[in-house]
Amino acid sequence: MSEDVASPTPFTGEDYRARTRRVAAAATEEGLTGVLVTPGPDLVWLTGYHPTAITERLTLLALRADGDPVLVVPALERHDAEVAEGVTGMEVIDWSDASDPYLAVASVLPAEGTYGISDSAWALHLLGLQQHLPRAAYRSLSDAMPMMRAVKGPEELKRLAAAGAAADAAYEEILGVRFRGRRETDVAGDLADLLRRFGHEQVDFTVVGSGPNGADPHHEAGNRVIERGDAVVLDFGGLRYGYGSDTTRTVCVGEPDDELRRVHEVVLRAQEAGVQAARAGATCQDVDRAARTLIAKAGYGEAFIHRTGHGIGVTTHEPPYMVEGEEQPLLSGMCFSVEPGTYLPGRFGVRIEDIVTVTDGEAARLNNTDHGLAVVA
Ligand code: ZN
Ligand code: ZN
Ligand code: ZN
Repeated sequence: MSEDVASPTPFTGEDYRARTRRVAAAATEEGLTGVLVTPGPDLVWLTGYHPTAITERLTLLALRADGDPVLVVPALERHDAEVAEGVTGMEVIDWSDASDPYLAVASVLPAEGTYGISDSAWALHLLGLQQHLPRAAYRSLSDAMPMMRAVKGPEELKRLAAAGAAADAAYEEILGVRFRGRRETDVAGDLADLLRRFGHEQVDFTVVGSGPNGADPHHEAGNRVIERGDAVVLDFGGLRYGYGSDTTRTVCVGEPDDELRRVHEVVLRAQEAGVQAARAGATCQDVDRAARTLIAKAGYGEAFIHRTGHGIGVTTHEPPYMVEGEEQPLLSGMCFSVEPGTYLPGRFGVRIEDIVTVTDGEAARLNNTDHGLAVVA
């Protein structure tokens, strides 16, 4: 597979307007008076605007159930905001440093009602809003509208596929580098360089969990020197064309022992079962159950200590989550990870992760490198 894809068609003002309209309508259905969006993934997705420096100065997009969107910005950033594709043509209100930004927001919003607010909003801003709209209530947007960004359009799927292909190319290259005798951070640096070389503009994480460190799913990379016989968990991703990649493979430095082979085989079958379960009409928890059942049957149920997957889009981790209790049905166009693992404290860990997209039939994998236990030098 080639990581070389034609750069995608940029999103247009009309694309962004369709999103703001859709979200405003969905908010009304959810019983919200409006949606308040501060800089971060929601704002990028709704407008294409990402302030270069996110500071204590308030930038806030208000989507009102009964009116057009309005963007409140610091006066000195008005120009930067207005050139964003999705902001062009939108009502923009600016505030100067000597004025009160929350008053500006309060002046354009109903004083009562319930607002959904971005998870990335600073406490500073939410407290300011609460002071100036004391009769309003607030809900986390991921709680009120967890599906807001979950179903991807064709142009978004192209970007996610391009990010996946680049991550795959990075994995194929990393198999050729030396592991033994180098620090985890050295291999992590190689992975970051490769992601950038294959087109990522942003690297979010490069996990290199060697030997016992692999048993800690949140271990990133440290000073441990990688040894012969180590299992090494490689989990890496970032953004390409503004959309995420996130893939994991577990490799072995030299020939693996029998237990590592056995555990790897179990995780591989669990991952395949999770992907098979990812079908329109099934639920998020069905994906988790399919993967977890196989690991539990093999006797490692206690060693699979995290959910099976998470959504991906303009961020590398977002709702919905493939976890017991999440009954959200899977819809065609949803994209998420399937990443079961088995973690044996003090010894090693194994995880295998692909991004998949739900289609009308079988889920399509956006990561297609070999899933086997690769032997590295
Ligand atoms: Zn004030
Ligand atoms: Zn990952
Ligand atoms: Zn992941």
